[in-house]
Amino acid sequence: MTTRRNFFKFTLLSATALMPGILKRSADLISSRTGSDKHVPLFLSTWNHGMAANEKAWAVLRDSGQIVTAVEEGVKVTEADPSSRTVGLNGLPDREGIVTLDASIMKGSGECGSVCFVRQIKHPITLARKVMEKTPHVMLAGEGARQFAISENMTLEEEELHPEAEAAYQEWLREKEYKPIINIENHDTIGMVGIDASGNLAGSCTTSGLSFKMHGRVGDSPIIGAGLYVDDEVGAATATGMGESIIKICGSFLVVELMRQGRSPDEACREVVHRLVSKNRKDIDNLQAGFIAVNKDGEYGAHAVRPGFNFALRHETANKMVDSPSHFE
Ligand code: ASP
Repeated sequence: MTTRRNFFKFTLLSATALMPGILKRSADLISSRTGSDKHVPLFLSTWNHGMAANEKAWAVLRDSGQIVTAVEEGVKVTEADPSSRTVGLNGLPDREGIVTLDASIMKGSGECGSVCFVRQIKHPITLARKVMEKTPHVMLAGEGARQFAISENMTLEEEELHPEAEAAYQEWLREKEYKPIINIENHDTIGMVGIDASGNLAGSCTTSGLSFKMHGRVGDSPIIGAGLYVDDEVGAATATGMGESIIKICGSFLVVELMRQGRSPDEACREVVHRLVSKNRKDIDNLQAGFIAVNKDGEYGAHAVRPGFNFALRHETANKMVDSPSHFE
């Protein structure tokens, strides 16, 4: 029996088939909405440190064929970078002078793991992966995460601030001004999303969080759906910037869900930033946040609250930094 719904589908199809002009116009509409070319494999990573991370991820994917290993190994480069004050143990400490780290990893199948408020671990992203693969849980925090790392024979590092982090902390102590503000001089989580040639997706996100944060403060980066979300049926997104504003709108999950509803990665990121701005009016003058996303076809996009956010793009024919569009141009 022809239902009313099928009938409409049929009439629409026959009508468009008879009118090539209409078909062409709708194709134009689709391509102008998607905003970027399609490329697989592809990696996107937040900020300038994303270039080295993407390079590593690209090589690991080529050699291992494992997209999840590629996104883990990629961000490990930043975690180990002695010049980073925002990712890994060389990052800036909290207001007690202690570096605490947050990280998460997710596969397009839905498996995920994360650690937060963890100390002394050089590679929290690897610990997050171990949570994903070796425990029945998604998230381990603080001392429990550290104990789990010990049980996995991971080395605990000395708690010694990098000299530049120590100097910045001493400077901060003079005023002890508590300003949880992220602007373009004070940011830099690395979030990475990647897709392999068969369309398998994965993402990773790792940070030392807000500088001089309250002891125990956890940002968006280890929270699945806030700092990172990946779904093989749709795409992947990750975030950087003021974690509180991102958590409040389940930012990365929202980007992926908007892509599920048909938005391009660019459109989805833009709409999510718009939502973030509208829900954070009170703090908006001092707030920066940005999202990057890739869909399952290898189209990508980004959007930020304000200018200054950029991301590293790597695919077969590109290896470069891209400036993100922003809400407040
Ligand atoms: N999103 C991170 C946090 O709030 C910080 C950042 O991206 O710089 O912990």
